[in-house]
Amino acid sequence: MTASRPEPHASGLIEAMKRIAAGDFSTRLSAGAHDAPPADVAEVFNRMAENLQGTNHERDLSTTSLAADLAAAQKELERVSLTDPLTQVANSIALAELIRNELDASAAGGRPPALLALDLHSFREVNGSVGHCAGDEILQVVARRIRGAIRETDTLARIGGNEFAVLLPQSNLTRARRVANRLSKVLGETLLVNDADVRCAASVGLRVADSDELAETFLRKAVAAMEAARIMPTGNVKVFEPALLHAKQLQSDMISDLSYAIRNDQLVLYFQPVVELATGRIEGVEALVRWQHPERGLVMPDNFIPLAEETGLIVELGMWVLTHAVTQLSEWQVAGVVDSTFNMRVNISSSELRNLELIEHVRDALRITGVKSANLIIELTESMAINEGHLDQYSVMGLRRLGVQLEIDDFGTGYSSISYLRKLPVNVVKIDRSLITDLGVESKQEGFVAAVLQLIHSCGMKALAEGIETPEQAQILARMGCESGQGYLFGRPAAAADVVAMLGPAVFYG
Ligand code: C2E
Ligand code: MG
Ligand code: MG
Repeated sequence: MTASRPEPHASGLIEAMKRIAAGDFSTRLSAGAHDAPPADVAEVFNRMAENLQGTNHERDLSTTSLAADLAAAQKELERVSLTDPLTQVANSIALAELIRNELDASAAGGRPPALLALDLHSFREVNGSVGHCAGDEILQVVARRIRGAIRETDTLARIGGNEFAVLLPQSNLTRARRVANRLSKVLGETLLVNDADVRCAASVGLRVADSDELAETFLRKAVAAMEAARIMPTGNVKVFEPALLHAKQLQSDMISDLSYAIRNDQLVLYFQPVVELATGRIEGVEALVRWQHPERGLVMPDNFIPLAEETGLIVELGMWVLTHAVTQLSEWQVAGVVDSTFNMRVNISSSELRNLELIEHVRDALRITGVKSANLIIELTESMAINEGHLDQYSVMGLRRLGVQLEIDDFGTGYSSISYLRKLPVNVVKIDRSLITDLGVESKQEGFVAAVLQLIHSCGMKALAEGIETPEQAQILARMGCESGQGYLFGRPAAAADVVAMLGPAVFYG
C-alpha cells in the first residue's frame, strides 16, 4: 500500500477523461471492459460526454454547466479511486492518506490513532467450499458487520483479499482493545450465505501509534500483530510488540535460507528402519529430512516443514526428498545391500498432493533410477486423504495407478472413522506414536489398540505401529497381529551410511 496507483477499474475512467480533455467528445465508456468503472459511474460519464458532444459547437469549455459537469466527474473519479469496488469501503490508498492525516494531527498535540488489522483466517477454505460469488457476498456482509460495530468517525478499509483495517482516530490502548474484542466477537458469529451457515472468524492485530511514527511503520506493526494473532493458540486479538518484527525478520531470513538450502543440497535424508514385528527383519526405511544448516547445525523437520508448507517451498523440498530417497534405494539395490522386497517410505504434505506435477515427478524418479513403483510407499496424513477435494483424489488415484503403495501416517490423531478408512485407497495404516506410548503402561490401552488393529484389518489393510520404544510394546503389538513396527527400539533415524550397518538380520525381543 505504498504506491498510490489508481485502482484497475479507475484507469479506464482516467484515460477517458484525458481524451475528453483533449477535445475528443466522442469518447464513451463501455460497461463490460476490464478496466471499466462501475456501471453507474460509466453512465454519468457517458451522459456528460453526450452533453459535451451535443453542445460543443455552441459553447466553449469554460461555460458554467460544463465546468460543473467536469467537477462532478472529477469528484466521482476521486471517489472511485479511493473505494474498494466490492465492499464500497475505503481502499488501501484512502487508508494511507487518512493514517497520515491522523499521525500529523497527533504530532501536533492530539491523541494518537490506533489501527486494527483484521484477517478472516478461515476465508480461503470457506471461499473454496461455497464458491467465489458467495465469497464476495461474505466479504460484503463482513464489511457491513464491522461498519455496524464501529463509530461513524472510525474508518473501515479493505487492505487485501480477506484483510480489513479499522482506523480509530484519537484513541488509546483501552478503547482500541475494546473495539478489537467487539469486532472479534461480532465476526465470530455465523453468517447466512446461500442458505448455508458459514463461520469466518477474524484474527485482529492492534497498534496504537507512537509519537512521530511513520504511516508505513504504523500499518506494518498492526499487520505483524495480526499475523501473530493468526497463530495464537488462544484468543485472537494481539497487541503489537517489538519482538514480533524481529520474529518476522528471522522468518523471512529463514525462508531465503531454506530456498537456498534446497537448491544447494544442504538438506540431508535420514532413514529410520521399519521392521516386520514377527521376525525383526528390516523390511524398509522411512526417509526423514533434516537441514544441515551452516550455523545452526542439524535442524529437525518440525522446525522448517511448517514454514515450507506455508510458503509453497514444500513442493520443491518434496521433490528433492523424493528424488534423493528413490536414488538412495536404487544405490542400495545395486550394491546388493537390500533385496527386492525392501521399501522406501516418503512423507508428502497436502500442498504437494495438490501439485499436478507430483505424479509426473514420481514417474520420472522411478524411471530414471529403475526402482519399481511397488517399492515406494508414500505416507499421507489421514486428514489430507479425507478432507481434500477432487484434485487430491485425482493425485491419490494417479499414484495408485502408477503402482506406488499408499500409507496413512499418524493414524489416530485425525478422524479415524471406520467409514472413512474403508473408502481410502491405501495399503498400510501407520498407528500414531501417541497410541503406542502407553502400551504396556496402562492396561486399558491394550484393548484400545487391539480394536484399532481390528478396524484396520477389517478394511483389508496392514498395520504399522510407530514410536515403539520398549521390547514390551513390540511384543504386545506382535501378539495382537500388528504386521510392522518402527521406533527407537529398532533404530533411530540415521544417515545412509549408518543405516547400512543396521541392515543385517536382528532380533530385538525374545
Ligand atoms: P512422521 O512422518 O510421523 O515421522 C516420525 C517421527 O517420529 C520422526 O520425527 C521420527 O524421528 C520420530 N520417531 C520415530 N521413532 C520414534 C520413537 O520411538 N520415539 C519418539 N519419541 N519419536 C520417534 P522427525 O524425523 O523429527 O519428523 C517429524 C515429522 O516431520 C514427520 O513425522 C513428518 O511429518 C515430517 N517430515 C519428516 N520428513 C519429511 C519430508 O521429507 N517431507 C514431509 N512433507 N514431511 C516430513
Ligand atoms: Mg511419516
Ligand atoms: Mg508418523
